[in-house]
Amino acid sequence: MTFRLQRFRFQTWELLLCCLLFKGTLALSGNFWHITDLHWDPSYALGDDPKKVCASSGVRPAAQAGAFGDYACDSPWKLINSSVYAMKKFLPDPDFIVWTGDDTPHVPDRDLSQEAVLSIISNLTDAIKQVFPNTKVYSALGNHDYHPKSQLPGGPSVMYNQTALIWQHWLEPESRETFQKGGYYTEKLLNKTGFRILVLNTNLYYDRNLLTKDAEDPAGQFSWADRVLAEAAGHKEKVYVIGHVPPGVFEKRRNKPWYRPDFNRRYVDLIVKHHSVIAGQFFGHHHTDTFRMFYDSEGSPISTMFLSPGVTPWETTLPGVKNGANNPGIRIFEYDSQTLLVKDVVTYYLNLTHANAGWDRWEKEYRLTESFHVPDASPASMQRLLEGISTDRCRLQKYYQFNSVSYDLGECDAACRVDHVCSLREVDYDRYERCLVTEAASSGGGGSLPVLSVAASILFVLNQQ
Ligand SMILES: [Zn+2]
Ligand SMILES: [Zn+2]
Repeated sequence: MTFRLQRFRFQTWELLLCCLLFKGTLALSGNFWHITDLHWDPSYALGDDPKKVCASSGVRPAAQAGAFGDYACDSPWKLINSSVYAMKKFLPDPDFIVWTGDDTPHVPDRDLSQEAVLSIISNLTDAIKQVFPNTKVYSALGNHDYHPKSQLPGGPSVMYNQTALIWQHWLEPESRETFQKGGYYTEKLLNKTGFRILVLNTNLYYDRNLLTKDAEDPAGQFSWADRVLAEAAGHKEKVYVIGHVPPGVFEKRRNKPWYRPDFNRRYVDLIVKHHSVIAGQFFGHHHTDTFRMFYDSEGSPISTMFLSPGVTPWETTLPGVKNGANNPGIRIFEYDSQTLLVKDVVTYYLNLTHANAGWDRWEKEYRLTESFHVPDASPASMQRLLEGISTDRCRLQKYYQFNSVSYDLGECDAACRVDHVCSLREVDYDRYERCLVTEAASSGGGGSLPVLSVAASILFVLNQQ
């Protein structure tokens, strides 16, 4: 006994060194939650008629409806509640939470109103606030956080004012001013010198937004962001950029862009110009788990946009998308708190089928560095991952499974590979179209799908995520 005690006794200097090292490690690491696309459907109710379970399924039957939802429906409250408590369970004290919008169900505008939309935003805000009362939340507007949906104006509006009120405990006074003008704001990240967050309202660039279609710079957001990022460089700050609708093209539907072409170009230019201060971009809207790369003029990777999966399992009605549902997902980002470099990404999910059968356990789906054998989530590592996805079938298949949060376990064939690889690599529309041709040639047959130009596709596709 004496011997064992003796053997494990630390000398005082060893203890001190150990504490210092441990403290040093802790001080360098931070983590935050990213949640997005909760899409609460208050109409969800189980009953005898599968077509009447939820308004968000439209004419589709909710064939596997259960307490936690159905793949044809947006989230019932039980799923929303369960996702917020899963966050509490896996990481109860994050540095902050990033919440990138889309709170209301996919239903026609006539079934919603300004009051209904604001009440849904308010209910979800309360749910997060109740479980994380002392956590700072950075919240961006989604195209479904407005009435009529996607019609967010490039100037002051009652809904911007009302939403700023709902979020007032999370917003600094200066943030409220810009939010009321255009739905965007910037703050020092956690009020710390040297760190900043830019919360954008990219719904202004969405091609479904008719109010901004002729504007050069809606709400002056581009010139404002340019100024904020230039000042950030002057102050040697590191910046996270968050928003809802991402630039680039949807990876599950060939040639489906979200932004109007000029806005897409301008967004890419903004990131390329200021990449040295931007440490990460975090967006939603797709409901899928994917990422986008940005490059300098020499082709070196300079920035990554992480698109996190949605909480809603709702199967998209976008024509041409196969298996467009997902399991509900939430995600932790681990970062270097000295540089804001993203070190790792851990995704948790709820298998909806299992949950409805009684096994309602949120589980870790994967950790980026473990599953893809990359050292971190820096642009260089994400580029390495992209090259792996492009050339190695196993990596492609693994990425493809995670893309739908382990919902679609089918094969990603040659055409599917081209769609994903080109969306990941090329945010610029012209370069994306050239990529389709090159990649199809290299995989032999991947280009067999009809190739509509991005511009033509904007006219044809009338759906919205
Ligand atoms: Zn959404
Ligand atoms: Zn959206």
